[in-house]
Amino acid sequence: MSASPITGVGVGRGAVVGPVARAHPVPRVPADAPSPADPAAAADGVTAVFAEVADTLQSRAEAATGTLSEVLSATALMARDAALSGQAAAKVREGVAPSLAVAQVAGQFIEMFTAAGGYMAERATDLASVRDRVIARLEGLPEPGVPALSRPSVVVAEDLSPADTAVLDLANVLGIVIEKGGPTSHTAIIAGQLGLPCVVRATEAAGLKDGDVVAVDAAHGTVIVDPDEDVRAAVEARRAALAELATDTGDGATSDGHGVQLLANIGTAEDAERLTDAAVQGVGLFRTEVLFLDAQTAPTEDDQAAVYARALSALGGRKVVIRTLDAGADKPLAFVTQPGEENPALGVRGYRLVRAAPELLTTQLAAIARAQATTGGTPWVMAPMIATVSEAADFADAARAAGIATVGVMVEVPAIALRARDVLAEVDFVSIGTNDLAQYTMATDRLRGELVDLLDMWQPALLDLVSATAEAGVELGKPVGVCGESAADPVMALVLTGVGVTSLSMSPAAVPGVRFALRAHTLARCQEMAAAARAARTAPEARAAALALVDAHVRAVLALD
Ligand code: PEP
Ligand code: MG
Repeated sequence: MSASPITGVGVGRGAVVGPVARAHPVPRVPADAPSPADPAAAADGVTAVFAEVADTLQSRAEAATGTLSEVLSATALMARDAALSGQAAAKVREGVAPSLAVAQVAGQFIEMFTAAGGYMAERATDLASVRDRVIARLEGLPEPGVPALSRPSVVVAEDLSPADTAVLDLANVLGIVIEKGGPTSHTAIIAGQLGLPCVVRATEAAGLKDGDVVAVDAAHGTVIVDPDEDVRAAVEARRAALAELATDTGDGATSDGHGVQLLANIGTAEDAERLTDAAVQGVGLFRTEVLFLDAQTAPTEDDQAAVYARALSALGGRKVVIRTLDAGADKPLAFVTQPGEENPALGVRGYRLVRAAPELLTTQLAAIARAQATTGGTPWVMAPMIATVSEAADFADAARAAGIATVGVMVEVPAIALRARDVLAEVDFVSIGTNDLAQYTMATDRLRGELVDLLDMWQPALLDLVSATAEAGVELGKPVGVCGESAADPVMALVLTGVGVTSLSMSPAAVPGVRFALRAHTLARCQEMAAAARAARTAPEARAAALALVDAHVRAVLALD
C-alpha cells in the first residue's frame, strides 16, 4: 500500500476502507469552576440539558437494536429522573457551578445505588453515563464515548474501555483505531474477537477528524488517510483472499495430517451463539469475567448457570473450555475490587481472589456444574493466574468436587511454566496465556503501548517458557493449548505447533488464516521453524528466522512480510 501511513500495531489480518467516527473521552469537571452569574438562569439551563440528553438517548435507542437499544433506553430513563435533575438545579440555584453540581449530585446517587446492591447497583453505570453526557453538554464538549453511527464507519478513539467496546453498534463498525493501548489490552482483544480490523498504538491518529476517509490495514498495522485507487484495490484484494480462506471448514492439521485443534476465544453467550455455524472445533477460552464488566454485584448461580448453558448448547457437542473469573488488574469487576493495590497486575487477581472472596469460585463452579447437568455438555474448566503447584492442586480438587471432569489451569506466570511437569501431574490439561506470560516474563505492563517491543510474543525467553510447557505436555501425554493472542499469528501458530502445542485458541476471525498456514506445512517443517526461532537472540530475529521457512504463497496471501 502506498502513501505515508499512520503506523501502529495491528490486530488481525483484515483491511477495510471507511469514514472516521471519533469517540470522545469522558469530560473532566473543572474543580475551580466559578459560580454562575445568574444562578436561576443557569439552573434552568441544567434542567434543559438533562431533557436534551434524555431525548437524544431515546432517539438513539429507537434507532438501535438488541443490547445497545436496551442500554440506551435505560440510560434515557435515568436522564429523565426528576430527582436527579431537580437536585442538581437546586444546587446551581445556590450558586454551585453547573458541571460541579451535576457531578456532586450524580456522585451521591451512584453511592446510594451501589450501596443498595442488586438491580439498583446495576443502574450506577447508566447514571455515570448520564452524568458524563450532561457535563459534556454543559461544557460545550462532544458527547463522550462512541457516537451514534449513521453509516458504516471506522471508530477512532484515544482509548476505549472494554465496556465501550462491548456495546459497539456492530452493524456500523468497520474497524477500530486506538491511539493508546497495546495489542493485548482487553479492548484490542475484544475488537479482534468481533473480527474487526484493528490498529492500536496509532499515536498519530489523534489528528484524524470525523469524516476523514481511512484505509485500516491490520496485517501491516497501518492507517492511510485518503487512500488512492491502488490502496483501495489492495484492501479489496485482501478482503477477497480472506473470504476465500474462510470456505475451508475442515479441522486444523498440518499438510501431513498432524492435528492441531483450532478453537475460538469468547466472552459472552452471544459470542458462543455466533459460533453455531462457525468452522471452529470448539471454544478454547471463555473469558467469563467479560460477562460481568458492568455488574455492580456478584452474579448469582442462577444467572451464571443460564449463560453457561446457552454457550454449551450453542456449541453442541464441541469442546468448551470455561475459565473461572479473571477479575482484577485491567479487568476490574466492581463487586470484587481490591482496595488500595499499588500493583494490581501483581495483586489479588484471577485465581488469587479465592483468598478474598472464596464464594465467587464456589458459586461459579456450581453454576458450571448445573449448566453441564441441564445441557448434557461436558465443559472443561480452568483457572487463571495460577502461580504454584499447590494452587493448581487446590483448584483441581474444588472443580472435581463440584462435578467437573476435565480440569486445567492457565500458564500465565513464569514460575508455573518452569514447573509444568508438576502442574500437569495435578490437572488434565494446561492452556498457555501468552498475553500475561509475556507481561510477567518481561516485567512489562501489557497495557503500556509504548513498551510493546518488550511484550513481543517472539521474545526468546517467552519462546523458551512456552516450549518448556509444551515439552512437559508431550512427555505426560496431556493437552497443552495456547489461548493468548500469539495463537492468532499464523507464523507463531506454526512455531507453537512445532514445539508440541496441541490446540490454538483465538478470535474466530483469525482461524481461517491459521488453518491455511497449517495446511501448507508439514509437522517437520513446523519443528524446523521452532528450532530456528529458538536459536535466535532477539525477538525480530526469531520471527525472521521462522518466517524465512514459511511457504511463499502463504506469505503473500496473509500479507506476512
Ligand atoms: C492471556 O493472558 O494470554 C489470556 C489468554 O488471558 P487474558 O488475555 O484474558 O488475560
Ligand atoms: Mg491472562
